[in-house]
Amino acid sequence: MRYQRSSKLFSAASEVIPGGVNSPVRAFKAVGGTPIFVDKAKGAYLYDADGNRLIDYINSWGPMILGHAFPPVIDALVDKAKLGTSFGMPTEIETQIAELAVSMVPNVDQIRFVNSGTEACMSAVRLARGFSAKEKIIKFAGCYHGHSDSFLIQAGSGAVTFGSPNSPGVTKGTAKDTLLATYNNLDSVAKLFEANPLQIACVIVEPVAGNMGCIPPQPGFLEGLRDLCDTYKSILVFDEVMTGFRLAKGGVQELSGVNADIICFGKVIGGGLPVGAFAARHEIMSYLAPLGPVYQAGTLSGNPLAMAAGFAMLKALDSDKELFDRLAKKTAYLHKGIARVLSAHQIEHTINRIGSMISVHFSKIPVVDFETASLANNERFKNFFHGMLAGGIYIAPSAYETWFITDALTYKDLDYTIDAVEKVAKTL
Ligand SMILES: *Cc1c(COP(=O)(O)O)cnc(C)c1O
Repeated sequence: MRYQRSSKLFSAASEVIPGGVNSPVRAFKAVGGTPIFVDKAKGAYLYDADGNRLIDYINSWGPMILGHAFPPVIDALVDKAKLGTSFGMPTEIETQIAELAVSMVPNVDQIRFVNSGTEACMSAVRLARGFSAKEKIIKFAGCYHGHSDSFLIQAGSGAVTFGSPNSPGVTKGTAKDTLLATYNNLDSVAKLFEANPLQIACVIVEPVAGNMGCIPPQPGFLEGLRDLCDTYKSILVFDEVMTGFRLAKGGVQELSGVNADIICFGKVIGGGLPVGAFAARHEIMSYLAPLGPVYQAGTLSGNPLAMAAGFAMLKALDSDKELFDRLAKKTAYLHKGIARVLSAHQIEHTINRIGSMISVHFSKIPVVDFETASLANNERFKNFFHGMLAGGIYIAPSAYETWFITDALTYKDLDYTIDAVEKVAKTL
């Protein structure tokens, strides 16, 4: 594979864009080398600036669950664009996607659309604070909820990879209202509640963690969070930006049977356009402006192009009864194949998987929280990443990321990927 053109494009980008990228994890800092520039993508494949074809396991960090350039999404976008791209006035498509989303997700009556997952989580926490009239929040080490100030406290993937878990620019005043707990550890949460019984506005959690690799909740963890929130009259926020419309139609609420109070969305819900959303019961949503006192707004929120893409995506997910099973089967097949090869080469590994999310950790201890995720062999991951890339497979350039399986992947693609692991394993 040749990367001359990508290198040149990166040099040019670096002159005018800090680090050459508009989001840090794209920069390959954690694995070395220079990022690959994309020309186009279709189905399961990326085509880069040098004409290489790569099988894509990032899928825009999640949204492309049905593959790149999915025709119904592209058609909806093109049709909508011809009618004008933004009005700052209500449009019917906003109600259409809201009705569909609310019908797919358990336990919510209303949804508000924003422009990113970050905005969704930031607004959800403001709403939780406004509704509960309390100020502190509990988050988990290694969980990522976007880059707004209150969340940049041990924030998983990007933030961890760059060694700045507490980013300069976040004030001490803000940081003191974010309390840190340990994922899959209810005691750590109970202790924080006991020490601050009247002050916790909400617990925000990735109900399946995806930003320290993929870490499913252990049995009882989500149920326990629900109980603690009920006991202390706190709001439970599920950040389903990654898992929503990916692990099931109704996300992790549906999978686990545990209801949250506010649910955040992003990624899949926008069909590849910049969309986020948060949803809750009437009682909570009525606190939002213009009905209630909690302010939240956006010039481009509910943008018609974004809504058209999201609506086409959700319709496709809603109408395909076998989709989530099919995705889970493909992911299980990949898991089995990779595990077989790594075991045959006596390479220590732990593979976590749920639905269409999977992560490979080069350590043999179970990966259940941020600390155990951090104990993996990251030098080995770097070599693995570059070996896979040379074999035409694009996985996330960081050991703390989840791989996303798309419906566009064929079993032939999966076999090709497992063969690539076989070749790389010999060199690890
Ligand atoms: C990606 C992600 C976010 C942030 O979404 P952006 O659209 O990147 O702002 C928040 N929470 C989780 C769980 C995510 O995976």
